[in-house]
Amino acid sequence: MTNPNVLQAKLERLCDVYAAQLPEKLKHIEQVWEQLPQNNWDKEGFQTLHRMVHSLTGSGKTFGFALLSDVARNLEEHLKQVAQTETVLSEDQRQHIQKLMCELRQVAIYREALFNDQARSTAVAPPHHDALSPRRIFVVEDELEQAEELKIQLGYFGYEVTVFNTLTDFRVAMQRTFDVIILMDISFPDHSLGGIEAIKEIQAGRDIPLPVIFITVHDEFVVRLEAARAGNIAYLSKPININILIDKLDNLTSTASAAPYRVLIIDDSESLTAYYATVLEQAGMIVKVINNPVDAMIQLLEFTPDLILLDLYMPECSGLELAKVIRQLDSFVSIPIIFLSVEIDLDKQLVAMSLGGDDFLAKPILPQHLISSITSRIQRSLVLRSFIVRDSLTGLLNHTAIKNELNHEIIRSKRQETPMAFAMIDIDHFKQVNDIYGHSVGDRVIKSLSRLLKQRLRRTDMVGRYGGEEFAVILVNADRAVALQVLDIIRKDFSQLRYLADGKEFTVTFSCGIADISQFRNATQLARAADRALYKAKHAGRNQVVVADAPVTGMVLLK
Ligand code: GH3
Ligand code: MG
Ligand code: MG
Repeated sequence: MTNPNVLQAKLERLCDVYAAQLPEKLKHIEQVWEQLPQNNWDKEGFQTLHRMVHSLTGSGKTFGFALLSDVARNLEEHLKQVAQTETVLSEDQRQHIQKLMCELRQVAIYREALFNDQARSTAVAPPHHDALSPRRIFVVEDELEQAEELKIQLGYFGYEVTVFNTLTDFRVAMQRTFDVIILMDISFPDHSLGGIEAIKEIQAGRDIPLPVIFITVHDEFVVRLEAARAGNIAYLSKPININILIDKLDNLTSTASAAPYRVLIIDDSESLTAYYATVLEQAGMIVKVINNPVDAMIQLLEFTPDLILLDLYMPECSGLELAKVIRQLDSFVSIPIIFLSVEIDLDKQLVAMSLGGDDFLAKPILPQHLISSITSRIQRSLVLRSFIVRDSLTGLLNHTAIKNELNHEIIRSKRQETPMAFAMIDIDHFKQVNDIYGHSVGDRVIKSLSRLLKQRLRRTDMVGRYGGEEFAVILVNADRAVALQVLDIIRKDFSQLRYLADGKEFTVTFSCGIADISQFRNATQLARAADRALYKAKHAGRNQVVVADAPVTGMVLLK
């Protein structure tokens, strides 16, 4: 959780650093001004001066030097007018600039306190993905066998389950437990609504109620009503459909698995980028800073940001030019770009937008404004993007997206010389599941396998739905031995999952083929090899994982 005090302390330190560097900055500006030739027009020198003053305009207010910002803006305007004439300065012009320079010095001592109590409490909104939801579950159930079965099944999906067979044991444990999801049976031997009573007691002592799911054979309205009064979030009838239960649990905990947002900041001012980076990092984002736009391309490809924060005016290349270049790259056509600038000219903002900017933030920006603008932009863009790259049933990458990822990963793994494996998975005799239990039950099986894969593989691995009941997995930093080990455990666990349909229980298995990048040249060969290994697994009797052989080299096909 973000600690506003920590953020404030960091920001205050950045402000102190800025204040300490300010005299040196002003001195530098004065030097450039003094060195400008009096008798001829020095375009380059003048541009340097303009850029340095511009940077003061942008940064001053952010670090508590609002007056300095105002004077700098004034000076900047004047320099801009003069620059347009491209002639030697008149005496009037010179004097006016000199006067404003002096004013800069004078106002540079006025520093305001940026942080008050209100700023302290609102400095940073808690990021939604920082609040780790519990994956711990208490199952309170007097029927031992059912409870143990639930524990095993939930265990396959990565939940840590503790079983209590009596309400007394549960009450004792709750005295020292804070974050947990409770699966509560309703009837206990000594009290027909004992589960509901116990939950009511526990919720009464809490500001934020704990998530509770009741599992019960009672389906009468009055019982449901009492359960609702106890603040339950779901009510499941026995026998428990484990897939529905997992769906509910995943919804409760899914926010925890969201990866932090990645923001690339491109701005030539080191003090400002440090400031933005601090604000965003404290909000739980991963930030990369570039002070020289020339480095942007490499970083863009390596860092793969979710959003780019781009300064409009930089010495080497303007933000507008850079945005144009970024938009020309296929993978970054839709990445949100937010321009940062002191520019108050509406026309310029419109030009910036037309060149591919998504938003415009005027410096100085309050921390909470920066965070909320960035968060909402990224959220929206991720939703839009998910329509394009995600499969709607499972939320996994779709066929095209996983193939694109495979191409990227192969290039990356060859360049960095790190291992990588590719696996193809196909559910066994899936047609029979559909034929016997119906298509929607088949869909549930597909969903449960996709969930299992997502939960069991590392966050850096990628899972895609390759086709109907076929899945593709990219295991980064894993060779064939590791991949075999990982996928074989998943295979075993998947085969243990029990499905329930029409009152009948059944299990399903899958077959898997693995290929290792060190043995194949490109994506096509790798995918083909994995597919051949999968075919072998099917023919050898299904429910197994097979690793592809290295290709036979030097073989000549004779016709
Ligand atoms: P094998 O072990 O050889 O893989 O046998 P199989 O029955 O799994 O293979 P087959 O390719 O013959 O059948 C796949 C079935 O999957 C056929 C198709 O109707 C079904 N299927 C494909 N996509 C979906 C889907 O999204 N939902 C459901 N429920 N079924 C699907
Ligand atoms: Mg199949
Ligand atoms: Mg198939």
